[in-house]
Order: sequence, then C-alpha cells, then structure tokens
Amino acid sequence: MSNQSSKAFIALGSNLENPVFQIQHAFEEIKQIPGTCLLCHSSLYKTAPMGRLDQPDFINAVALIKTQLAPHDLLEALLMIEHNHGRMRKSLNEPRTLDLDILLYGELQYQDEVLTIPHPRMAQRAFVLKPLMEIAPHCQIPGYGPIAPLLELCQGQQLERIKV
Ligand code: AMP
Repeated sequence: MSNQSSKAFIALGSNLENPVFQIQHAFEEIKQIPGTCLLCHSSLYKTAPMGRLDQPDFINAVALIKTQLAPHDLLEALLMIEHNHGRMRKSLNEPRTLDLDILLYGELQYQDEVLTIPHPRMAQRAFVLKPLMEIAPHCQIPGYGPIAPLLELCQGQQLERIKV
C-alpha cells in the first residue's frame, strides 16, 4: 500500500437476488477495503439489459473512492467483494448478483492481460456515463474527453433514476 492516495471511480451493477440491496451492501463493503474511503456515490439507476435481452433489468451506480491501493490490488479487493456476493462467471453478459469495475484511476491509462483503465466499454454505456455525470459532471475520461458528448451518443439506451 502506498502513502499516496488516488481517486478512482467504480461502476456497480446487479440484476439478481434483490439488486438494490446488493448495490447498497456493496457500498458498505467498499468502505471496508483497506486504505480506501468512499467519498460519494451516485443515485441508483434501473437500466434495460444490453447484449443478452432475456434477463432482468439491472440496477447500476457509480462510486468515487480515495484509495492507497495500487490498481491491481484494488481490482483484487473488488473481485473478493463480488465473490462474497455469490457472483458466478459462466458466460459474457449473463445475469449477475454483483459486478464491480474500475472505471477510472486518477489520470491513468493502462492495459495488461487482467486490467484495462479506463474501463474499455465505459464510453459507450449510458448506465455508466449517466451516474458518473451525476457525481463528477466535469470529469474528463483519459483518451475520450468529457462525459456529455459521449452520453449524447448513448441516447437510445434506456435508464431511469430510482428512489430508494
Ligand atoms: P466482468 O466481471 O465480466 O466485468 O469481468 C471482470 C474481469 O475483467 C476481471 O477479472 C478483470 O481481469 C477484467 N478487467 C479488465 N479491466 C477491468 C477493469 N477496469 N475493471 C474491472 N475488471 C477489469
């Protein structure tokens, strides 16, 4: 763990076994990651599934954290939380109890076999961009630029902010 902290944005998604609870519980677990604090999170959004359409709607949100963990250690901590939520991986775009992705880690642009930052599909997904816009409207996505024009291109994607 480093003495320096970085800000990172995490995407949360769930469409199985009480998704609202899964996301709210995940916020609490993110607070428990060593060397990490949850600075804020977006509202929850109900979104239509993409890719595979024969599955329940998703609940999505984005969290802003400050962490002393390096990106790979942060990924490991997030995968552990997914695992604790009973996440199974069988195929792409399948229903899931909890999905946690690192969207941004400071200004970092990085790619290896296990980690790509910024998250490779974030710029095409309204369910990421809309909650990100809510908590960080002036955020610049390294390699892509500001959020608003990216969100414009996702207009066909349905999502609805929900009250819990
Ligand atoms: P999925 O749960 O389907 O989103 O895939 C998770 C896997 O994607 C992880 O085990 C990582 O190895 C890989 N991955 C690559 N880039 C990222 C990222 N920015 N955030 C989270 N997982 C990532």
